[in-house]
Amino acid sequence: MSNSILVVGGGFSGITAALEAAEVGHEVFIVEKAPFLGGRVMQLNKYFPKLCPPSCGLEIQFQRIKNNKNVKFFTLAEVESISGSKGNFEVKVRIKPRYVGPGSVELSEVIEKLSNDITDEFEFKLCDRKALYMDVPFAFPARYVLEKENCTDEDLKLLEGVDVIDLKSEEKVITLNVGSIVYATGWKPYDVTKLSNLGAGTVQNCVTNMALERLAAPSGPTGGKIVRPSDGAQPKNIAFVQCAGSRDENHLNFCSYICCMASLKQAAYIRDQYPDAKVTIYYIDLRTPGRYDKFAKRILSDDRINAVKGKVADVIEESGSGNVLVTVEDAETGIKAQNEHDLVVLATGMQPSLAGTPVPSGVQVDDQGFIVGGEEQGIFAAGCAKQPLDVMKTAQSGTAAALKAIQTVIGR
Ligand code: SF4
Repeated sequence: MSNSILVVGGGFSGITAALEAAEVGHEVFIVEKAPFLGGRVMQLNKYFPKLCPPSCGLEIQFQRIKNNKNVKFFTLAEVESISGSKGNFEVKVRIKPRYVGPGSVELSEVIEKLSNDITDEFEFKLCDRKALYMDVPFAFPARYVLEKENCTDEDLKLLEGVDVIDLKSEEKVITLNVGSIVYATGWKPYDVTKLSNLGAGTVQNCVTNMALERLAAPSGPTGGKIVRPSDGAQPKNIAFVQCAGSRDENHLNFCSYICCMASLKQAAYIRDQYPDAKVTIYYIDLRTPGRYDKFAKRILSDDRINAVKGKVADVIEESGSGNVLVTVEDAETGIKAQNEHDLVVLATGMQPSLAGTPVPSGVQVDDQGFIVGGEEQGIFAAGCAKQPLDVMKTAQSGTAAALKAIQTVIGR
C-alpha cells in the first residue's frame, strides 16, 4: 500500500495538484510528456483573471517544486500502463532520452552550428528552431533537450564532442507505486485545418488565437509585435471569428468556455499596440461568464472594436494583397456581405489532450476525450482534462483533485 500520489501532466492544474499534496507531506510524482513543465499557460502572453504574464504564476510554482523534496518529476515521460487498484497502483512510465545532462551549461554556440531547421511547434509554426533547444520562456527544468531524430549526420558528429551530451542515452521504462492518481493532461487547440471553410492552413494571414498569443508575447517569434505572417506588416483591420470548431456537431460539440474572453483580451492587445487599428469580432453568442462580464463591457466600449452577431460562412485569401475576405451574414440585419480584413484570428476551441489517443485502462473518457468517472477507483481528473476552464478554475480544480487523492491514500 502506498501514500504516494501520481500526477499525470505538468501544466497549471497538475503542478497545483502536486504541490498541494506534497506540501502536506505526500511523495508526489509528476509525469509530463513535454521537455518542460508549465503546459499551455507557458504559451500565453497574458492570462485571466488579472491578465498576468505566465511568469507571474508559474515561476512561483517552479520555485515551490525546487524547494520541496517530496516532488519528483519526469519530463519527456508518458504513462504506459496502470495496474493494481486504489491504494496500490503500479504505473509503468516510458521516458524518452533528453540526451543532455543536468547543469546550466550554455549551448547557444553549438546550436548556431547545427544545420537543420525544424518547425517550432511551441511557436505554432510561426518560426523555426534547431534540434537542440531550450527556447521556451523561463524553462523548467533549465536544461536543453535534443531531438536526435532531427539531426543530420554532420550535426551528430558535431554533438558527439560536446561534454554534456550523451548520444547513446536510451529510452527507459520505470515503475512507480502510488496510492492514487490525478490526471491533469490538459488541452490542445482544435486542429483548425479540419475547418476547411475558415481558411486555416491555406490562408497565410489567418491565424489561430494561440498563434496570436505567441505573436503578442515578448518571448515570441516577433518579440511581441503583432504582425501579419505573410509580410510582417502591421495589421490595421483585424477580424476575429468566434466558435472556430466549437459548438459544432461535426467538430467539438461543446462551448470552449474561454475563447470569447480570449478574443476580447486579444482585441485589447491589438488596440494597445496600434491605436488606429479597427477590430471586428464575428460571433454567434458572446459568452462572458460571471465577473468577466465587466471586462467584456470595458473592451466593447472602445468604438474601434465592433462585435457583429453572425456566423462566418467562409474565409478566403484575396489574391495579390494577402488580405482576407470573410463572408458573413449579419444576424441582426440579415445582410450577407464579404468583408475585407488584413488579418483574421480564429477563436479556436479547446480539445482535451486525450482526444484521439489511447488511454491506460482505468482512465475513462467520453466521446470528446474528456475524463469521466474513475473516482471510485482512485483516479481523479483535474483542469481541462475534465472540462474547458480558465487558468484560475484549472488551479482550483487541481486543488480539489489533490484533496480527493489525499483522502484516498489516507482513508483507505
Ligand atoms: Fe464560442 Fe465563445 Fe463558447 Fe468559445 S466561448 S465556443 S467563442 S461561444
